[in-house]
Amino acid sequence: MSREAPARFAEVALPLPVATGFIYRIPEALAQRAVPGARVLVPVRGRRALGLVVRTDVPLPEYDTREILSAPDAEPALGEPLLELARWVSRYYGAPLGLTLRSVLPGPLFGAAGSAGKGAEVSERVVTITRALPSLLERERAFARSPKRRLAYEAIEALGGSAPVRQLAERLHVTDAVIAGLATQGLARIERVTRTRDPFSGLATPPPPVLTDDQRRAILAIEGTPLDRPVLLHGVTGSGKTLVYLEVLRTLVERGDGAILLVPEIALTPQTVARVRGVFGDQVAVLHSGLSDGERADAWWALRRGTRRVAVGPRSALFAPVLRLRAIVVDEEHESSYKQGTTPRYHARDVAQVRARLEGARLILGSATPSLETLAQVADGRVVEVGLPERVGARPLPPVEVVDLRSAPRVENAGIVPWTEALDARVRAALDAREQVILLLNRRGFSTFVQCPKCGVVVECPSCSIALTLHRGPEVLRCHYCAHQEPVAETCGACGNPTQRMGGLGTQQLEHFVALRFPAARLARMDLDTTSSKWAHHRILERFARGDVDVLVGTQMIAKGLDFPNVTVVGVVDADTGLHLPDFRAAERTFQLVAQVAGRAGRGPKGGRVIVQTRSPDHHAIRAAARHSVRAFAEAELPLRRPPHPAYPPTVSLARFVATAGQAAQAEEGARRAADWLRRASAERLGGALTVLGPAPCPIARLKGRWRWHVLVKAADGRALSRVVRAWRAGPRGRGGVVVDRDPVSLL
Ligand SMILES: [Zn+2]
Ligand SMILES: [Zn+2]
Repeated sequence: MSREAPARFAEVALPLPVATGFIYRIPEALAQRAVPGARVLVPVRGRRALGLVVRTDVPLPEYDTREILSAPDAEPALGEPLLELARWVSRYYGAPLGLTLRSVLPGPLFGAAGSAGKGAEVSERVVTITRALPSLLERERAFARSPKRRLAYEAIEALGGSAPVRQLAERLHVTDAVIAGLATQGLARIERVTRTRDPFSGLATPPPPVLTDDQRRAILAIEGTPLDRPVLLHGVTGSGKTLVYLEVLRTLVERGDGAILLVPEIALTPQTVARVRGVFGDQVAVLHSGLSDGERADAWWALRRGTRRVAVGPRSALFAPVLRLRAIVVDEEHESSYKQGTTPRYHARDVAQVRARLEGARLILGSATPSLETLAQVADGRVVEVGLPERVGARPLPPVEVVDLRSAPRVENAGIVPWTEALDARVRAALDAREQVILLLNRRGFSTFVQCPKCGVVVECPSCSIALTLHRGPEVLRCHYCAHQEPVAETCGACGNPTQRMGGLGTQQLEHFVALRFPAARLARMDLDTTSSKWAHHRILERFARGDVDVLVGTQMIAKGLDFPNVTVVGVVDADTGLHLPDFRAAERTFQLVAQVAGRAGRGPKGGRVIVQTRSPDHHAIRAAARHSVRAFAEAELPLRRPPHPAYPPTVSLARFVATAGQAAQAEEGARRAADWLRRASAERLGGALTVLGPAPCPIARLKGRWRWHVLVKAADGRALSRVVRAWRAGPRGRGGVVVDRDPVSLL
């Protein structure tokens, strides 16, 4: 520093769990660049890292400061509205600003110095099935002398028709030679692939759609709503909500404005992207999870510089730096995947409302089964509802038959599979007519627990208080909450009894049962196990769309967004899997799941039918889903979330404080301290505005080796919660070990 100009200082946020940023001196040469929102390279803890300037009006610090080393960008990475949004998220959810910015800026742009542009290109051998063996008989013949080859073949099939050789061999505990044998036999081919295929490149553009009168009315209603009033586009399944969004967005992109379209990750299918590309061409940046770091950074800058105007993607695309942002669409707004499970624990739907307000953009929430939170905002006039009451082509919603599993006759030899004669007859008729069937069972694996018939002990995960799930092909016990797996023991670990009993139906066993019962049918299964490799779920859906699959078995993954006109039967094999979980949203989730999957039936001229099997046929969630009626569900459910029942959102605001520790007593102690502090804060500072429940053990009392206790805090006015969350975060570091989850989507 040669001249005597007064030194200036900047507060720089880094992706670290600390409450405030770090202070650095701004060198003269960087005075123009080191402004709020700009990325800067700074020395920290003996390394260099990319941080973000959050303010520059910092008073002279009392301690020695170091200098900012450089500022890589000619213009600030974040404009003022996005920086303000990050501050809001940090305050509202009680997350450090540095960790919040980690969600706002993609990985390579923030924190990690020098790793930007790292590609994810890999070269690997991939095996692809070239000959289908549609019937059980053909299969028996082909693999009569090679059961391992059959195992491999069926695993590839379950993975959507192709899989990396290395990964497959490791997972199945077979040698590469077994897989090579499939090629020798003419059933598959093996080739070297140098790059992961992007399913979104080279898509054919669909023909321009023709709007229905209903859709045109909805567009006019949306465009006629004042900009500052969010719109709920409430359309029944199959009513063509996407066309409405796209038309609204098209108008504003033509004017040179920008937009964001959020979709649940699972719904980001090639069909969706093809439709969006069909309208916006090269104006659109698709921010999917398969992008490499470098591709993600490129897409981010293209939006920041305005060479692309529309961002499409899951949750985090909400923070895309779109210029002249004039509309945000949150498709399937009821989806719990919009809530982030790690710090910052933000809900993209709720933050979208804040961003829309900050930037003067229109917000459109879309759903066939809107959340009760959004319906409550409609009821008090904060959100305007626009309806699409009918399916395209005036097709009726499919009739739903509720089958009482307590009394309905079952087919013989079904074992633990609740396969009723009613469901059997519908499936058989559809297959005979060469129509397609979807079977929903929201539990993966073969059996959901293994139990000793003598002493009753259930095999649990050593790190989580959760029963281990039995998987087959290869046979192994797996924890669905952590990575733990173990072989199936031959004797009971508690009493030494030599036999083990399996219970609880999972999708693998259902698939196995259906294969035996309908040997000529071609099956596919879609759950987390079959979709772990990239794009596997797209490949499964492509096969289903082509008609190469007759029966699609799956978990909640198959409930969303699928539009296949030849599906005439949808069976919900056991609607009760999530109904009795200790969570106030259990009924709402069950309603949404059943109503959504029911909406997959009857989308073509042949019509359709839904069979819902349940032991609770009179439960309001099941009854309302059978009528495809959100109103009926809300009318029955909302009173249950108000006094004299325990109050829950949307009647009150809720936050959850979760204490975790290696020892049970420590977790309990942490939660007790939090509860005491909250009760005191409520009495002393907030006039008793909070209701504090607990501490109590979480329903999942142990997870990944850590014991868990929680405290629930409710307030009629969300501002009281904001104050207490802020005060908590500003407190001593001893409050580490407690996670604050505001507006939690799960209480397990
Ligand atoms: Zn035993
Ligand atoms: Zn576990």
